[in-house]
Amino acid sequence: MNQLLGNCTVVDARVLDGVPPQKDAGIWVTGERIAAVGPYAKVAQQARRAGPIAERDLGGAFVTPGLANMHTHFSLSLPGKGGDRVKELGPHDLALYMADGARRTLDCGVTTVRNVAEKDHADFALRRAITAGRVPGPRMFTAGRALVCTGGHGHESGDTLECDGPIGFRQGVRSQIKAGADLIKVMISGGIAGEHEGISTPQLFADEMAAVIETAHAWGRKVTAHAGPAEVIGAAVALGLDCVEHGYQLTPSVARAMAANGTALVPTLLVTRCKEFFDELGVPEWMQCRSLDAGPRHLESFAMAVEAGVEILLGSDMPPFWSFEGTNATVRELENLAESLGPARALHAATRGPIRWLGAERDLGTVEEGKYADLIAMPGDPLEDASAFRGVRWVMKGGAIVRDGDDK
Ligand SMILES: [Zn+2]
Repeated sequence: MNQLLGNCTVVDARVLDGVPPQKDAGIWVTGERIAAVGPYAKVAQQARRAGPIAERDLGGAFVTPGLANMHTHFSLSLPGKGGDRVKELGPHDLALYMADGARRTLDCGVTTVRNVAEKDHADFALRRAITAGRVPGPRMFTAGRALVCTGGHGHESGDTLECDGPIGFRQGVRSQIKAGADLIKVMISGGIAGEHEGISTPQLFADEMAAVIETAHAWGRKVTAHAGPAEVIGAAVALGLDCVEHGYQLTPSVARAMAANGTALVPTLLVTRCKEFFDELGVPEWMQCRSLDAGPRHLESFAMAVEAGVEILLGSDMPPFWSFEGTNATVRELENLAESLGPARALHAATRGPIRWLGAERDLGTVEEGKYADLIAMPGDPLEDASAFRGVRWVMKGGAIVRDGDDK
């Protein structure tokens, strides 16, 4: 189908390269992709010459690429009653539960997700169903099960795979790639949600980390690691780690090493400031305390990464669609990032940055000719205030309008 979107201002993260927002713009979409973007009159003429078109007035909205959330779990089950309900789901119920989350996520304007540990390989079934158009959802890049040592972070449920020793971890990487993993997730230290560990507990030996990273890279997959303490992160970065999740306790020198090695950080700032979410799920007191106590050091650590010039990427850890503090978890995290980065760099961290990490920049991440038409529209200017994303009510994925208006 030929579509012409008009009466809008197009903004994307290329503003950081000096590409200004395009006012009075038109976007011509043919099939799944953008055929032209530019001044409305010019684009409209081009589009009309090509044949019959469906025209749509966006009412002066600001249009950006769809958001990308780099730390997502559709089958998340934290300790407590809410998590127990998810753990008790049988395989069919689990798949449908995850599909519901995927649909809600897309409705929020999140058109790409990176899943970093999902239960029982249901993520691969969900990815197939979304790709085939059987269920609505974002484009999924998924890790399958996260690799952990015996008893390591998150070992309690089916979203992890216990491995030990370099041979065990090599086999773990290969087994996830065999099942369809786009990337590898590994837990290299303790975390907030593990009862028998601390955030700073190291969990893998250097030969185990090296085995994970070398094997994944040999197969062309990147590795991201759940990690807290600076020493553990520093050792993994030296071995070629591609991304750090949380990074609760960075030091300036480890942050500099990350920047020098091109290791990205997904700070998931929400996880140490989401008491309301934990209460809703009935998360136990010990975990709540650990989360809130880690908050100040987490923020300090994030500031060190920003200062060192580490690539910062948006990831919520909370389900991306979760209703939280008047918006959804993805937009709330985007606001958290914008507090330090400012709106333009936050937009980068939520769109082009993640897409580059995922190696999908030929198809996604900016509003440019030839890319998939994954677009969202909002009344406010996202370069004035990142909270403009609270106003997303129109979502297009691959040229199909998946949301138009308030109803969700
Ligand atoms: Zn997580």
